Amino acid sequence: MVTIAEEWLNSCSGCEIALLNLGETLLDLLPDLSFVHIPVLADNKYYGQTGERSALEIPKAQVGIISGGVRNEEHLEVLHVMRKQTDILVALGTCATEGGIPALANLTSTASMREMVYRGQPSTVPGPDPDTEAHHLPRMLERCDALHQHVAVDLSIPGCPPHPDWIAEAIGALLAGRAPKLPSRSVCDGCPTYRTGKSSSPALHRLLDQPAYDADQGLDAMQCLLEQGFMCLGPVTRRGCGGRTGSPRCISARVPCRGCYGRISAHTMPMVDYVGALTSVGQNFAAMPDKQGYLSRFDGSEAILKKLED
Ligand code: SF4
Ligand code: SF4
Ligand code: SF4
Repeated sequence: MVTIAEEWLNSCSGCEIALLNLGETLLDLLPDLSFVHIPVLADNKYYGQTGERSALEIPKAQVGIISGGVRNEEHLEVLHVMRKQTDILVALGTCATEGGIPALANLTSTASMREMVYRGQPSTVPGPDPDTEAHHLPRMLERCDALHQHVAVDLSIPGCPPHPDWIAEAIGALLAGRAPKLPSRSVCDGCPTYRTGKSSSPALHRLLDQPAYDADQGLDAMQCLLEQGFMCLGPVTRRGCGGRTGSPRCISARVPCRGCYGRISAHTMPMVDYVGALTSVGQNFAAMPDKQGYLSRFDGSEAILKKLED
């Protein structure tokens, strides 16, 4: 029996839904698992039922699974307690492994982001700053970070959300005492579209434009979307969204990859590598709009983002 503690930090709960989407596989695994803590499914009061405790309480477990990145002081506290209370810590989902979409806020300062959200919009009735007024909210940190930027992480399962096949592989490997076999190459590596080596479009398309394909034909009869002039992030994104057997999800729906599995590895830099991908098919990287936002949409927690000048 393996004990598991699960937590969600700056998370939308999509990763927990992916966990439940294991379906019958989860039923097979459950006899060997004991969830001792999982706030998304079972009520939990960090400081006791009536707030009578002064320290945050999470039970000890062999495996800790955390979704979401670190955005405020409470997330940071929960993360440190989870690290202390669990033997193996797993980062589940791209928010936990790379910061995810919320880390796009690292493009600007927390103060200006709050100003924009709470007071700066034409449709916003100006209200008090939640960080400086007595709102009893956890104070926001200056950045949104991935877990590994604060504590040691033993296993990363990227994806927004991760495919249930890889969650099952990770849990199965932990039960068997072996290293999990997770995908390590790019989305392009599992993409069945055909490639000619050069672009068929003189310029980059807006993402809402329609690519050329015959709906009666398979994906292998569709030209690579990057070659068609669409900013497909397959070349700089980690493979895995199709599970063990499927094609990349977005490509299967005939739309470009947006990069939700994050970088192929911690040593790659999408901003640099995508210059090569675009120019290799004859497209002009300089013509690409919103490069920072687009290429860092899911991994903005890393140092690849620089603050924009105000
Ligand atoms: S990785 Fe995606 S699904 Fe998971 S918490 Fe973040 S936004 Fe939600
Ligand atoms: S760039 Fe996109 S469409 Fe082309 S091979 Fe890679 S994932 Fe497939
Ligand atoms: S194709 Fe890209 S954006 Fe779409 S699910 Fe796969 S990794 Fe995510």
